[in-house]
Amino acid sequence: MTSSTLLFNSNQKNKHAAKRLVITIDGPGGAGKTTVSRILAERLGYQYVDTGALYRGVAVAARSAGLNRDDEAGLGALCDNLDLRFINNEKGLRLFSNCSDITDPIRDPEITMLASTISAKPVVRKFLLVLQRDMAKTKGVVFEGRDMGTVVFPEAEVKFFLNASQKVRALRRHREVEPKKTGQTIEEVERDLQRRDENDSNRRLAPLKPAEDAIHIDSTHLSVMGVVDLMLLHVDKFI
Ligand code: C5P
Repeated sequence: MTSSTLLFNSNQKNKHAAKRLVITIDGPGGAGKTTVSRILAERLGYQYVDTGALYRGVAVAARSAGLNRDDEAGLGALCDNLDLRFINNEKGLRLFSNCSDITDPIRDPEITMLASTISAKPVVRKFLLVLQRDMAKTKGVVFEGRDMGTVVFPEAEVKFFLNASQKVRALRRHREVEPKKTGQTIEEVERDLQRRDENDSNRRLAPLKPAEDAIHIDSTHLSVMGVVDLMLLHVDKFI
């Protein structure tokens, strides 16, 4: 990288940091939201919040407490005593639940499906709605999820809806879970993704759908940096 590129990058970062926008990125699993959001936040000097990790965090707590997935009163009591927070430490950005590091267990396939089920429960969504809005108080944040642009931050300055073909999403998700030795085949990953898409899109509360003013990006044939650069072009219009 040349010194002029470095100067350009740091000027860009300062410019965006001064404006401190709320940027939302919604879309189905495997569309590339997490990777892209992380890099976009880094490029802008913003915080990054993976809201799917929060739903997964509630699922881990529910499993540890031995709760039935349909026990709404139990889930409500669980949320009342749950302290979920992201902490940056020597291992990177980690998710803590009442002082336990749950960054790894939230990726278990069983937790993936449980998170999708409990995310339809009003008590869980209400709890996380407050928490997510609280995280935006400092502004300058990239939020990634399913209902960021529609329900949690309808006033967000920049909203994206990121999608990709089902086959490509399954391939990407499989590549992510493979090193974790879950033993899942691509077909199983694709079936789980499809089930989750159906759950997430058809639930009554905060279904997965693009906000009316969202910018649609199809990442099927784009590289990660291709998507980030496209997003930066749009973000620049709001500065
Ligand atoms: O994004 P990720 O796959 O980690 O999300 C796990 C689950 O959490 C999703 O399948 C979805 O059911 C739920 N979720 C949600 N609303 C969000 C983020 C995630 O309902 N904003």
